[in-house]
Amino acid sequence: MRAVGSLLAVASLAVAAPALSQSIASKTINVDVAIVGAGASGAYAAIRLKEDFGKTIAVIEKSEALGGHVSTYDDPATGLPFDFAVQSFNNYGPAAAFMQRLGISTIPAPRVALTQRFVDFKTGSVVPYVPSSAADRTAALQKFLQVTEPFENFLLPGYWNFPAPANIPADLLLPFGDFVAKYNLSAAANQVFEVTGMGVGDFKNRLTMYVLSSFGPPMIRTFLGNGTIMVPASRRNEEVYEKIQARLSSSLLLGSTVVQSTRGNSGHVLWVKKGSQYTLVKAAKLLIAVEPTTANMEPFDLDTKEKNVFNKLSYQRVHAAIVTHQALPVDTSLVHIPTAGAPANYMVLPTPNHNARFDYMGYNSTNWRALMVGDKNFDRCAAEALLNANFKAMRQQGTLPAGGPAHLTVKAWADHGAMHMHASASDIRAGFIQKQYELEGYRKTWWTGGAFSHQFQAILWAFDDTLLPKILA
Ligand SMILES: Cc1cc2nc3c(=O)[nH]c(=O)nc-3n(C[C@H](O)[C@H](O)[C@H](O)COP(=O)(O)OP(=O)(O)OC[C@H]3O[C@@H](n4cnc5c(N)ncnc54)[C@H](O)[C@@H]3O)c2cc1C
Repeated sequence: MRAVGSLLAVASLAVAAPALSQSIASKTINVDVAIVGAGASGAYAAIRLKEDFGKTIAVIEKSEALGGHVSTYDDPATGLPFDFAVQSFNNYGPAAAFMQRLGISTIPAPRVALTQRFVDFKTGSVVPYVPSSAADRTAALQKFLQVTEPFENFLLPGYWNFPAPANIPADLLLPFGDFVAKYNLSAAANQVFEVTGMGVGDFKNRLTMYVLSSFGPPMIRTFLGNGTIMVPASRRNEEVYEKIQARLSSSLLLGSTVVQSTRGNSGHVLWVKKGSQYTLVKAAKLLIAVEPTTANMEPFDLDTKEKNVFNKLSYQRVHAAIVTHQALPVDTSLVHIPTAGAPANYMVLPTPNHNARFDYMGYNSTNWRALMVGDKNFDRCAAEALLNANFKAMRQQGTLPAGGPAHLTVKAWADHGAMHMHASASDIRAGFIQKQYELEGYRKTWWTGGAFSHQFQAILWAFDDTLLPKILA
């Protein structure tokens, strides 16, 4: 035991990086608010803090472009844009006004009409699956809305009004499979899963409150025809973030990450690194808009109270890609359904790690969209291997024709990293949400993004609107 202990001590001494001194930085920037991450939540907050509230800001974004999960592939073959990650923006909260403010005219989200073929991607065989009828689905969605609307104020656009542990409605902490069975919602389950629910991972066992963060009342209303979803008229979702980027340009530190920080009530010092260059950002307040994974949080000098919250979160890792191959069928969506889902077991759904579909993207292209969900070790290499294994199995079973290369060609890929962070029912009963929200403002640091709100662009913008007055107070 002693030998193991001393080895560990040596190992930790060996990996501890020496603290950086402030003199390493070639430049120092002093701002009111430093924002880390410029996806949906960080970019929106940055615009509002700078333009509406006149604050000086510095936005630290690891990528060279803003927008996080928004990925547009500008297809050289057709000359058309293809959005293969974020598909559309819900007309929720500030979304329509924000688009207008950015000078973006919008259209209803276009849909490519596709014939669905149900295939067990693991075996490659066609599954004789019969989707629920439109009438049954609509009835189930209406029921779904009716039983979840009472929770809307607890969940949307964030968990500010989430009930104290003793008052949490039992339904919110039911595994979603039990919730579906309780209210007889199975005719809608597959649609919920296919549209956004697959992102939550183990859909059947995920707590209902977290499934609602991917398909909650606003989305249900949309599918019932009582809400709209939009895209820029250019049909390039990246346009939204290109416009934001142009307006924020002087405040952006792109291709940059925080590598060390000192945080406290008297202000923050962030060592921001780009290549071999360091910039020191000194900020009175800090807004963190990245998923609070252990790796992302490592430079932020978390204390025990903060660590005790984030240590309780688990997550999925999501990838989206555009692939092509002559064997993939046009005008078709190949949907992954386990064999046991036939003919109508609507809660028998793929579990991670899996690829949910190959969807033809239309417009006479040779583009198919794939969406993959896995555990935290599901990197691009594993996801690409899975796609090719699915493809190979379908060819071996004759579901797809032979001929051409053995592998799919990847045209575009987006590793969306951690998504759908969630805690366990027992932690939530022990006050997890309240402890999470106690971090808002603690150590002059505020938190936004999917882990504090929901996995939708417009809902995150609405969440920021509730958070900004607290930052400014
Ligand atoms: C495949 C897919 C499809 C989707 N479809 C839709 C849709 O149709 N409609 C919709 O409304 N929502 C959709 N979503 C969900 C939506 O995109 C997310 O909920 C939203 O982007 C989350 O915003 P965020 O600000 O929390 O994080 P992100 O958008 O992920 O932004 C985080 C940002 O931080 C940066 N970053 C990460 N780590 C660091 C670091 N250490 N330092 C500095 N910067 C860092 C990232 O580069 C990124 O720009 C989809 C998501 C995926 C993955």
